[in-house]
Amino acid sequence: MCGIVGITGTERAAELAFLGLYGLQHRGQEAAGISAVDADGRARLHKAEGLVVEAFDDERLRELPGRTALGHVRYSTAGGVGLVNAQPIVVRYHQGDLALVHNGNITNAQVLREELVREGALFQSTVDSEVIVHLIARSREPTVELQLADALSRLAGAFSVLLTVGETLYAARDPWGYRPLIMGRLPDGGVAVASETCALDLIGARNFCTLGPGEVVRIEGDEITYLPRLEGAERQAPCIFELVYFARPDSRIWDVSVDRARRAFGRQLAKEHPVDADCVFSVPDSSNSAALGYAEESGIPLELGLIRNHYVGRTFIHPSQAGRDFKVRIKYNAVREVIEGKRVIVVDDSLVRGTTSRGLITMIREAGAKEVHFRVASPPVISPCYYGIDMPTRDELIGASHTIEEIREHLNVDSLGYLSLEGMHAAVAERGPFCDACFSGNYVAPLVDLKMGRPVSSHC
Ligand code: AMP
Repeated sequence: MCGIVGITGTERAAELAFLGLYGLQHRGQEAAGISAVDADGRARLHKAEGLVVEAFDDERLRELPGRTALGHVRYSTAGGVGLVNAQPIVVRYHQGDLALVHNGNITNAQVLREELVREGALFQSTVDSEVIVHLIARSREPTVELQLADALSRLAGAFSVLLTVGETLYAARDPWGYRPLIMGRLPDGGVAVASETCALDLIGARNFCTLGPGEVVRIEGDEITYLPRLEGAERQAPCIFELVYFARPDSRIWDVSVDRARRAFGRQLAKEHPVDADCVFSVPDSSNSAALGYAEESGIPLELGLIRNHYVGRTFIHPSQAGRDFKVRIKYNAVREVIEGKRVIVVDDSLVRGTTSRGLITMIREAGAKEVHFRVASPPVISPCYYGIDMPTRDELIGASHTIEEIREHLNVDSLGYLSLEGMHAAVAERGPFCDACFSGNYVAPLVDLKMGRPVSSHC
């Protein structure tokens, strides 16, 4: 997954992009980058591996003058493929410098890339986003906007993109609307666009407006112009996993509060899987809101049974310590005083491989729990995501290959309850329909690359 931000109409563009990225750090920690367009229309770029604060300092930001900037944080995928694939992508285009940031996975990127390469395109990276730039540059349409529409209309899958051509900022979402993108007005003039509202809050933006599926806008200074919508989606499909796990709970995406959505999942979970117990606690931080919802509905007191170390980052683990549960122990510890002799309900937001939870439950049992009841505030993950959430292959998804009873035994818990698919949708019914492919196997946007026998890239 990635986080993107765009700023225009202010001299502080790069600085605000930096702050916006800081607020989106949870969406990607592998690399961070900012491009800014100077008074001559030249796009300058700095990107580096690591966290936003590691990639930028005052001096770096001073080297990025201008009134329009883009920022990107990249998710650390397995085996990371280096700085060459970090964004923004900046190219010299016949209409001026063009910069682009992208969140989502394009599901026909390989097929398009092969076609473009046959036509003579020279790719600099292996990232799916680069096909967008080549499609724009090679379009035969007469204007930038028509070239952009032409390029985007050839893509399938998930793409929330921000682009600058000179000082003009463009923002677009795929017609299915997989990944969020929200605009806000800056207090001293100008506009900001970001993946989540928590980034807009941080830079003091106001009057938020969610970009709808297929919407394309041009932003010049304070002026926002809606361009023709991208068509072609059978239905809208915003990602429900953003609400389950990915987005920050202080964000509003698709006009719904992530915190409220997670609480509603937790309340519904308590209705579907009640159990008599002494306390409820979350696996911090991703399931805090869901655990609150469970506690509210069940009337069972909420406790802090697990504490998370927030400074873990990319910890070096010595091979001799790399036992099954060691990674979990580095990140979490159990609070014996809360757990000892108690019947506890542990609420987690999702079960993917099941390895984290297994380690946590060992830890909770060692802290003296009398009974452990595990509750998951989403349905079993049974299918990989091809639209931008980094998920393992089907073989590694515990929910795809095991029954609930087998998972309960594997986790070594007294009872296990997952939120039902219907219950999850009902909890956020006012905002659907959503993409729930990871929970249902229903893929809405076509998986062209897979059908052609090519892997869907797992970029972000
Ligand atoms: P596990 O079942 O061991 O794979 O870990 C599942 C936990 O990891 C969940 O409770 C989430 O908090 C978190 N998680 C879920 N999806 C992802 C993802 N795509 N990337 C990283 N962490 C995730």
